Amino acid sequence: MEHKKAKRPVMVTRSSLPPMEEYIEMLKPLWESAWLTNMGDYHEQFKTRLKEYLGLERLELFVNGHMALELTLQALGLEGEVITTPFTFASTTHAIVRNGLTPVFCDIDPEDYTLDTAKLESLITDRTSAIVPVHVYGNPCHVDEIGRIAARHGLKVIYDAAHAFGEEIGGKGIGQFGDASMFSFHATKVFHSIEGGAVSFSDPALAPLLYQLKNFGITGYESVDYVGANGKMNEFQAAMGLCNLRHIDGEIAKRKALAERYRERLSGVKGIRLCPERPGVKYNYAYMPVVFDGYHKDRDQIFAELALQDIHARKYFYPCINACACYRDRFREEDTPVAARVSRQVLTLPLYADLDPDTVDLICDTVLR
Ligand SMILES: *Cc1c(COP(=O)(O)O)cnc(C)c1O
Repeated sequence: MEHKKAKRPVMVTRSSLPPMEEYIEMLKPLWESAWLTNMGDYHEQFKTRLKEYLGLERLELFVNGHMALELTLQALGLEGEVITTPFTFASTTHAIVRNGLTPVFCDIDPEDYTLDTAKLESLITDRTSAIVPVHVYGNPCHVDEIGRIAARHGLKVIYDAAHAFGEEIGGKGIGQFGDASMFSFHATKVFHSIEGGAVSFSDPALAPLLYQLKNFGITGYESVDYVGANGKMNEFQAAMGLCNLRHIDGEIAKRKALAERYRERLSGVKGIRLCPERPGVKYNYAYMPVVFDGYHKDRDQIFAELALQDIHARKYFYPCINACACYRDRFREEDTPVAARVSRQVLTLPLYADLDPDTVDLICDTVLR
């Protein structure tokens, strides 16, 4: 048997691609129709297939996840303050701020790093209009408790589900919770359309509004009713999405096997914490976050030791958003102490469908040495 050598460098993720012929085959009709963007055939097909796959009734596609979130917040007509997490990618906070809204950072749960619902209610004021939680690393938020709190105070809930493609809670597609959920199909995500995104939503009245907002706010041949943006997904993106959707179950199964291999090696080690897997949740194994808390080496040491072997883990999410240059004048990281601590202890280890299992062993050996 051929000896498999780890291909270097090993990055934290690697985009999955369909067989090239499949994509090329998809391109031929585009050359015939010359319809390249603006809600073409593939856009419509992709939307239909995604609704089936994700178990959703209402969905709108976007050029990327960020525009999907930003325009959804606009469509909901929010005002004032929005409660969110500092333990996320910059996009979540930017989407709030770019709508002229004020983010209010709530600390995170020390177990699964999603919004800490025990701390949520005390942050609600008469200016609060919405909650934007993040299913971070694909760990589902405490959706029932968030739903109860939101209902009690008349708040909208918009989930950043960028990490949660294809996940289910109790057999329900994760996009069914809250008023809306944003998915990202960026090349580095579990499922991608090169760049791309979508929003699922509960209120049917949002459908035309989202459609118009992503097309400059145009409502007719001679009418522009809203200050929209350009957030349209093009046909090349939709074609890639359709191809990748054919293979997604196999990709997630491969990720699962690798994640289990990591868990076998790293769980139960003193000072190493892995995210608990909740019963009833169908996971997508998007990331492999490991927290070093009281371990004999710290996060930065392990990061450096892996880098020496040309293995590049990532410090997701460090620093917290409320400590980034663009926000730290207005916010204090000390106000969200759990997020601040976890951001210094967490390392996301390489995980993607075609990662060699031997590389997982090598990474674990390095961590455990
Ligand atoms: C990737 C990501 C986004 C942004 O999605 P894009 O498709 O890259 O615009 C937003 N939030 C989180 C948590 C993400 O990981």
